[in-house]
Amino acid sequence: MDFSLGERAESFRTEVRAFLGEHLTPTVIQQMHTTGTFNNKDFNSALAEAGLLAGAVPGYGNRDPIELYVLFNELEKAGAPYEGLAVTMLVAGVVHAVGTEFHHNEVLKPLLTGRYTCCLGYSEPDHGSDVAAITTRAIRDGKDWVIDGQKMWTTMAHEADWVILLTRTNPDVPKHKGLTMFLVPMDLPGIEIQPVATMATERTNATFYDGVRLGDQWRLGEVDGGWNVMGVALAFERGVMGGTNPAVPLLRHIRDWAANTPSPEGGPLLDDPLLRERMGRTAIANQVSQLLTLRAAWIAATGGLPGLEGSMAKLYATERYQQAVGWFQQMAGAEGLLSFGASHAAANGWIDYDGRHSPVMTIYGGTTEINRNNVAERHLGLPRAR
Ligand SMILES: Cc1cc2nc3c(=O)[nH]c(=O)nc-3n(C[C@H](O)[C@H](O)[C@H](O)COP(=O)(O)OP(=O)(O)OC[C@H]3O[C@@H](n4cnc5c(N)ncnc54)[C@H](O)[C@@H]3O)c2cc1C
Repeated sequence: MDFSLGERAESFRTEVRAFLGEHLTPTVIQQMHTTGTFNNKDFNSALAEAGLLAGAVPGYGNRDPIELYVLFNELEKAGAPYEGLAVTMLVAGVVHAVGTEFHHNEVLKPLLTGRYTCCLGYSEPDHGSDVAAITTRAIRDGKDWVIDGQKMWTTMAHEADWVILLTRTNPDVPKHKGLTMFLVPMDLPGIEIQPVATMATERTNATFYDGVRLGDQWRLGEVDGGWNVMGVALAFERGVMGGTNPAVPLLRHIRDWAANTPSPEGGPLLDDPLLRERMGRTAIANQVSQLLTLRAAWIAATGGLPGLEGSMAKLYATERYQQAVGWFQQMAGAEGLLSFGASHAAANGWIDYDGRHSPVMTIYGGTTEINRNNVAERHLGLPRAR
């Protein structure tokens, strides 16, 4: 089977790699880990200026859709701050797919400059996996809507210009049928943001909406049609826009560490047979993750929504990532628990970082259990879990 992406996609990949060689400096990487904000507006706008961002919007323009996959695949493998950008471009794709001319002018155009950021306001304190059960209310008041409620885990809210907000507009119908999506400017009165630190260093937020008044022009999709808008957004969230190759940078850090660390038996740790076996297994898992991601990307590129395939890629990649970092942490011993900046930290703190980051990746963007249900029901045809 021929897995090559074709000349156009490969030349795009070369362009992205050249960009990363120039712009992904140690300072950019360090800044993301010291602030916990996995977004860098200067880096994003440099991407836009280099002409690399328009292809990052799902379904936008006449760009080769495979560019979307190539861009995020390269950013993730290089360890760049791509998470904020991925969410922003995902929202751009949703706006492109279901937005009005107003949304295109007010939101999509600015997003394409890389200077603006969006965040996702779906999850609530009591509703994450079962997101259709959310309770944040939007009530019509003349020409406006008034929003009251609380969202949890609104990552990037503190930097974002807009939140794509899932609200309940009708509590008297089955839960999926009473939802409406809005694009909400984050500077409206009544919005409060509180930081939430995670074990993965990544900052997220609790967001509060207290009588937030908003014109109807900010509604995205039909009234009570929010679930359809969610469908478009979720299909791209898993698989195609990063999140499925996290062990690629990890393996690079392990290689560099093991080459420069003595083994108790003499010689570098890189010669240790157990370490080599584990590195080999991780490299194989990375390759499988890459192929699963490619399948999701191919479906997106040929006009489909890769909801199921993205679930499979995310599920496999994040579980293998967790397994791999557990192996390396075990081999590094206590020094594998030391963080960035500590003098004896194994792999300069990367093993510790990945050890804390890998559990979180099996939660956000749909938990492992939810993805397993998705695969069991939609791919294997097993009965519904509930
Ligand atoms: C760091 C981080 C960043 C995030 N960023 C965002 C963001 O920007 N925007 C946003 O909207 N959300 C965000 N989330 C929220 C994330 O999507 C949810 O945490 C996730 O969907 C799980 O929801 P929950 O936390 O409410 O857990 P719950 O849904 O309460 O799940 C608890 C446990 O029960 C399991 N479970 C639940 N339902 C089932 C079922 N039907 N079958 C089997 N097992 C089940 C889950 O797998 C999990 O293990 C983020 C989360 C984290 C940790």
